[in-house]
Amino acid sequence: MGSPFIEMYFSYLCTLFCIPTDYEPRTICEHLQYLFALLQNSNRRYIDPSGLVKALGLDTGQQQDAQEFSKLFLSLLEDTLSKQKDPNLQNVIQQQFCGQFSYVTVCNKCGRESPLPSRFYELELNIQGHKNLTECVTEFLKEEKLEGDNRYYCESCQSKQNATRRIKLQSLPRTLNFQLMRFVFDRQSGHKKKLNTFISFPEVLDMGPFLEGKEEECTYELSAVLIHRGVSAYSGHYIAHVRDAHTNDWYKFNDEEIEKMEGKKLQLGIEEDIVYLIAYPYLHCS
Ligand SMILES: [Zn+2]
Repeated sequence: MGSPFIEMYFSYLCTLFCIPTDYEPRTICEHLQYLFALLQNSNRRYIDPSGLVKALGLDTGQQQDAQEFSKLFLSLLEDTLSKQKDPNLQNVIQQQFCGQFSYVTVCNKCGRESPLPSRFYELELNIQGHKNLTECVTEFLKEEKLEGDNRYYCESCQSKQNATRRIKLQSLPRTLNFQLMRFVFDRQSGHKKKLNTFISFPEVLDMGPFLEGKEEECTYELSAVLIHRGVSAYSGHYIAHVRDAHTNDWYKFNDEEIEKMEGKKLQLGIEEDIVYLIAYPYLHCS
C-alpha cells in the first residue's frame, strides 16, 4: 500500500481539518482526524496508517498503484464528507481538488461546436516525448483531429464529419494535482510498462496561459511530489517528498524513514521517477 502517499496527503491536508482528541477512531473520517492529530502534534518519528487502511477496506499487505489509490481515496473522502452535518465540510474535497474542463468538438463542415463539460481531480499528462511539465500540459490541451475511422457524428449535419477536438480548461482547483502517466500499456507485450523519461518541473507554476478566456496570472507553488523507484509497472517502491508550508523545508517520506532535506529546494536523484501528484497549492489567482 502506498503509505508515503497517505502521509503526503495527510501532511498537506492536516491544515484543513479541526482535530478533536481523546477518542478511538471508528469511521474513515475519525481515522483521518486521528492521523492528522498525530502527525501534527506527536513527537513520533513516523505514523503508522494501518488503522485508516483497514477502515478503507484495504489490505495492508497488498501493493497498490498510487494513481488508483488516489482516486479511491478522494472519492471515498468526498462521499463520506458529503454526509457530514456541517455544510462547510460537505464540499471540502470538491472545493480543494476539483476543477472543470470541457471537451469541445468542432465539426469541420458546419462549424457546430459541441462542448462536453467534465470535472477533474487531477490532470493526467502524457509524458512520452516531453522534457518538462509545461510541454506535457500543452500537449494535454492540444487540438486533436478526428478523421478517417475517428470521424465525429455531427448532430447538425446528421452524418459523420471530420472534426477537431480539444480540452478547454475552465476552472482550476485550489490544489492542482498532476499525474504523470509513467505506466503505459504496451501493445506488443500486452502489459503495462514503465517510461523512465525525465520530466522537469518548476517550483512555481503559472497556469494562467492555459486557462480559457483568462489572461491573468494563476500561480501554484509546488508542495508535494510522489516518485516511483523500480523498473516495472507492477512492483517498486513509492517515496513522497512534501514541503512544510510554514517553514518551506522539504521532507522525504520513505516508509518509516522520514528525513528533512538539506536546503530549501527539492532535490531529487536522477534515478527517481516522478509518477504522481505534483500538487501545487494555490499561491495566487487574480
Ligand atoms: Zn456539422
